[in-house]
Amino acid sequence: MYRPPSEADSFILQATVGCSHNKCVYCDMYRDKEFRVRDLDESLAMLRMAARYEGASLEKLFVADGDALVMGMDHWIPILETAHQLFPRLRRVSCYAMASNVQSKTDEELQILRKHGLSLLYLGPESGDPETMRRIVKGGTFEDHVEAAQRAHQAGMKISVIALLGAGGVARSKEHAEATARLVTEMDPEFFAALTLTVIPGTPMERMEAKGKFELPSIDGLLRELCTIVDLARPSNAVFRSNHASNYLPISGRLPHDRERILKVLDAALHGDINLRPEWARGL
Ligand code: SF4
Repeated sequence: MYRPPSEADSFILQATVGCSHNKCVYCDMYRDKEFRVRDLDESLAMLRMAARYEGASLEKLFVADGDALVMGMDHWIPILETAHQLFPRLRRVSCYAMASNVQSKTDEELQILRKHGLSLLYLGPESGDPETMRRIVKGGTFEDHVEAAQRAHQAGMKISVIALLGAGGVARSKEHAEATARLVTEMDPEFFAALTLTVIPGTPMERMEAKGKFELPSIDGLLRELCTIVDLARPSNAVFRSNHASNYLPISGRLPHDRERILKVLDAALHGDINLRPEWARGL
């Protein structure tokens, strides 16, 4: 199972298996899994088992797998109600969501989910560049992601936006970085994370690379993309992190408050004044 770094101390409830989209060309997380919504009784039994081990102290619940928001209300509501009965100190329920998952719910459904405790959605457009989004088969456009962010916010949910350094390859590195900054501005997330693309064996992206249709930017190129995104993005007040294991340089701060400090750190890294994470220490 996969979860964001910030869910390290959450209970992970695998209420769905796999990803209903499962087409992003760089992703191998669920490639070997056929998507399904787990039987509701099984999900509720897992929550009761968690209560036996964690006691009532659990504060955070992450609902997996890759786009768990796709689950219908007939599953979400009993899961959220049971979680709150079993864990009275529960303060955050979150999940990964595709823009289309948000779009397929009505405003009323999103509000009901929020009232029942679903408070944070991790949305991964990876890029704001339409051509890059099309090439990586992201399954949603720039506008889809802006709409999803606005509707999640209107329902009272927070969002964490994920961008993928290198997603545009060398060919669209500049466009990718600039458009991603624009998308982050328009989505205006509470949390913004940058990850770094790794070309994984067996994925369509590896085949694109082998055919010369994709070339990952150099480490300096990836850091320059992050400079552009940090420099140009204008979220109101977002917690920014590049602490994911895939990154060469873990940084954290607030945007726009810490923009200059983060840019100085990136500049120092580009001049070789800061040690980068060695290749062997990076992970997905
Ligand atoms: S939506 Fe997420 S989990 Fe699904 S294929 Fe794309 S990157 Fe992988």
